[in-house]
Formats: sequence, C-alpha cells, structure tokens
Amino acid sequence: MRWIIGLLLAGLVAIGGVVAWRTSQFVPAPVVEAAAVAAPELTFDADAAAARLGRAIQFETISVQEGQTWNAAPFTAQRSWLESAYPAFHAVAQREIVNGESLLFTWAGSDASLAPILLLAHLDVVPVEEWSRKDWTSEPFSGAVRDGFVWGRGAIDDKGSLIAILEAANVLAQSGFKPKRTLIFAFGHDEEVSGRDGAQAMAKILADRGVKAWFAMDEGQATIARHPMTGGPVSLIGIAEKGYATLRVTASARAGHSSMPDKDTAVTLLSEAVLRIHRMPIEMKLEGGPAIDMIRALAPQLPMTLRAAAANEWLFSPVINQELGADPQAAALVRTTVAPTMLEGGPKENIIPGRAVAWINFRLHPRDTSASILARAQEAVKGIPDVTVEWDRPPNEASAVSSTTSDSYALISAMARVAAPGAPVAPGLVLGGTDSRYYGGVAENVYRFAPAIYEGEDIAGIHGKNERLSVENLTRMIRGYAHLMTAGAG
Ligand SMILES: [Zn+2]
Repeated sequence: MRWIIGLLLAGLVAIGGVVAWRTSQFVPAPVVEAAAVAAPELTFDADAAAARLGRAIQFETISVQEGQTWNAAPFTAQRSWLESAYPAFHAVAQREIVNGESLLFTWAGSDASLAPILLLAHLDVVPVEEWSRKDWTSEPFSGAVRDGFVWGRGAIDDKGSLIAILEAANVLAQSGFKPKRTLIFAFGHDEEVSGRDGAQAMAKILADRGVKAWFAMDEGQATIARHPMTGGPVSLIGIAEKGYATLRVTASARAGHSSMPDKDTAVTLLSEAVLRIHRMPIEMKLEGGPAIDMIRALAPQLPMTLRAAAANEWLFSPVINQELGADPQAAALVRTTVAPTMLEGGPKENIIPGRAVAWINFRLHPRDTSASILARAQEAVKGIPDVTVEWDRPPNEASAVSSTTSDSYALISAMARVAAPGAPVAPGLVLGGTDSRYYGGVAENVYRFAPAIYEGEDIAGIHGKNERLSVENLTRMIRGYAHLMTAGAG
C-alpha cells in the first residue's frame, strides 16, 4: 500500500509544480511599443461640442421595427445640419450618400500605398417607449445639457461617438492636419434594425473598390469604471462579437377538445423539445475565445487563485465551469447562450391546438457556428414525433476574432491608456451586435472601442431611460479619436 501512497504524493507534487509553473507563465501579452505616439495638442470648446451633441439628439432619427412607418425627414435634416456644424471636415472629406441616408466620407491621405483607417458610427437611435417617458428627467429628444451631462436618446448610443469623431476631425482639419493615410468614415442609418441598407451596403461599396483597411473601429466597448474581476477600471477593446440566431421549434399533433386529450399533444411535445434543446450540451470554456486573453491581460490585477485556475484550465475546468455557469454575465462570455423567448399554442383554454411553436434565441460564441448549433438541436429532439427545428430567419454568425498582437491593437491600446490613465487594457467580447460585423471583409482587423469611462449608471441608459453622456466623457472621446487619427494616419 505504501508505494501507492508514495506514487500519489509524487504525482501531487508534480501537478503542483506544473500548476505553479503555468501560473507564473500566465502574463499579459507584450504590447507593440511603436504605437505609443503622443496625443496631439488639441484646443477646442468642450461646452460648444456638448451643445452640438445636444442638437444632434434633437433630430429624432429613430429606427423602427419592420412593418412600422419609418420617417426619413429627421435623417435628412440631421445631414444638412452636420454639414453646417462641421464645415472644415466637409471641406476636406468627400461625402457619399448611400441608400438615401447613410454617410460615407473619405478624407484622402497623401500616401495611397498605406491601408486606410475605417471609423464607424451610426446615425439612428432606438425609440423611446411611451410608457417610460414619464421616468425621463429631461425630454428624451431635448438634448438638454445639465449637471455636466448631455441628456437624451442616443447620447451614448451612438451620437456620442458620431459627434466626437466629427468634432475631432473638424478640429484637425481646421488646424491644417493632413493625413498621410486615408481616413474613411462610415455612418450607417439602420444599425438598430439590421444594418443592411447602411453598413452592409457601405461595406460592399468599399469591397468593390478593393479597399482593405488597416483596421476598423466601431462602438461596442469602452473603459468600464468597475470591472467585475478586478473591481477597478478596465479599458475593454472588443475583438469579436457574438452572433445572433433564433430557432423556431414546431410541434404538430391531433387537434381536439381538451375534455378528451390524447396521451401527448402538440403542447407536450413542444415542451419536451424546448427542454431538450435548452439542456443540450454546449461547450463552455475560457480557451478558444476572447475570455482567456482578457484574463491573461488582467492577470497582474487578479487574485492568485483566479490566475492559477485560468492558467490551468486543463486541471480546474470543472470548478471554472461551475463558477462561470452560475453567473449569467460570465457565462455569456464563454459560451453560446440559449434562451427560449416566445411561445404560441391554442387560441382558447379548452381547445387542443394542432400546432404549437416556440422560439429560442441563441447568441453564438465565436467557437460555434449556426450550422453546428442547428445540428445539435436536431439531434436533441430526435425521437419526439412531429417536431421540426429550423432557423426563423437567416442567422448572423459570430464575427471573426481580431488580433491582440497587431500594431493597430497596440495603437488603440495606447490611445485607451491616455484616455483612461491607470486602467489596464484588455480584449473583450461584445455580446450584442454592431455594424462592424459587416466590415470583416474590408479590414485586416475590426475593433470595438469608445474612449470613454462608463459607470454602471451610464450603461443602464443605453436603450433604457435617462440616457446621458458626461461632458467630461465627450471631451475624452474627442481627444481619443483625434489621437487615433493623428497617431494612426499622421
Ligand atoms: Zn449602437
């Protein structure tokens, strides 16, 4: 017996050694230093910029769901106003109007051999629900500037970025800045519904011209004041975004009166199918996605136990999975999520319907494809009679994962370090969808980052109530985008 215990102990010592060694090797990836170009000296009137953001919010450029009437007039009015508000920029950049309301600007660089920089933002906003209007402290489309904030729908999403980019470009154009590298600005008008007429069309135009940008940068992430892992500020650069797909599950059985039900009905068959799909195994892992890179980047700020666990997923994966699985926010980062959301059955309580339908929403992790998820769902319902499973609409796949060792990532990191001093920079995964998903083919890398520091309260306003952007953040964003333009294209 003694030799077995000896062997076990030796094994434990060896495993302990491997764990310690791997933990010590678990350090942030080196950052390319070449990109640490200083931010430009920039003189501008922050209050005037805030007033202009307020003015932009007053144009009710609302995207509506299919079937509702869409009003183009505010978009057209906003476009003419932008022209008058940013004359220096409009003088140096060539503007193209795409599909009626999207705006594609090209500020030609002096060296055509350099790959352009592509800056993205969107012109549209989500509606304000009537019932929630009473909870707004300022009228949602007033664009009021009060208590150091610009208030209103779109203040952050995404007129804040739109206006900050234009303010920065206008100040630079005014000061005589001439880019070596071409700067392309693509502002879509339907990001909140599909991006098809805006971003998708503009990406196609660029692709047809043979444009291959150095990188594209869009909304999606920023510096968050309190990161759940470190408790402190972290600048998250979105290197990928999740896909979106909704499964329609249909069950059929004999219709009839509820006083004499068959053993199974469309409703019971559907319930079984929904439960099986909800419980089907979907991989949950730190590796194979942005999560492990994020933890690695934050390693110096993390408790030793967490660092050791992340560095040794081969050993601790059961514990890690349990921890991650218990926290919806963390789980969303490391796996494709499954959420049954809508049900349709009989029209009356005493009628057994011949058909029952469920919709299940998936957010696809970059490691999964819609085809592999559909195959697994079909496998899961095997054996349940008369159940069909199909995508309700063509799915959006997850984006490709952009590099964290490119010089463009280093440039954005350098900009983020100036915008939010002291905040470590880490790659992140965007859980929602942005226009940037259409630009994968026309840019070497696609990043999602706004140089602003957001508190939880700021984030709650996005698509919610009392959306606002602090004048301080607007100033930070103008400086950040100007930094990116001069350091990247100067
Ligand atoms: Zn947005």
